[in-house]
Amino acid sequence: MTSIDDEKEELKRLVKHLREQLEQLHLIATHDEKTGVYNSTFFKSIFEFELRKAERDGTFCLVVIDLDFFKKVNDTYGHITGDKILKRTAEILKGGMRGADVAARFGGEEFFIILPDADRDKGRQVAERLRKAVLKDRFLKKHGLTISAGVAEYKKKDTFDTLANRADEALYEAKKTGRNRVVVRK
Ligand code: GH3
Ligand code: MG
Ligand code: MG
Repeated sequence: MTSIDDEKEELKRLVKHLREQLEQLHLIATHDEKTGVYNSTFFKSIFEFELRKAERDGTFCLVVIDLDFFKKVNDTYGHITGDKILKRTAEILKGGMRGADVAARFGGEEFFIILPDADRDKGRQVAERLRKAVLKDRFLKKHGLTISAGVAEYKKKDTFDTLANRADEALYEAKKTGRNRVVVRK
């Protein structure tokens, strides 16, 4: 081989390496390390995209999910098991979603999910399915884990804050009325 061929090969290797590095960086920048779902920053950019879509006569739902009595679970089984429970819950949520749905971890033990094109009936259906999937999972069941969910459907003029507030109010009601349940807000 000529030295030009050698240089071409070397360049190819370098480009491949840079591509892999870039992919890795993208993954780190957009995902939550502990659970593998998206992080809140990336979620918010997807949310803005859904808002723009919905403003042109569409709709979508925001689901806020919070682990029930998670402090007690940590106190009983320890933080390492707590982390495994968090990770398993994220897997269950991802397993119960459609391809276009987007889940992210917000704060310690809360997950936000966007359900594109879903009205509130659909939102309730999906959230109920996820709640039941958590109940059925052997590992989570063994640790007595349940989740509560608040669901809110997009309304004209919504922003991230207004829609998230309604979903949060619904979640608060789910907690107040006994946990392990789904509450839907207009
Ligand atoms: P509620 O049903 O009202 O939501 O009760 P809770 O105990 O789940 O709520 P609270 O806000 O009192 O406690 C949340 C707990 O979640 C406290 C904290 O130790 C735990 N937690 C938050 N982030 C993590 C984490 O990354 N790993 C583990 N293991 N625990 C976490
Ligand atoms: Mg919480
Ligand atoms: Mg909680």
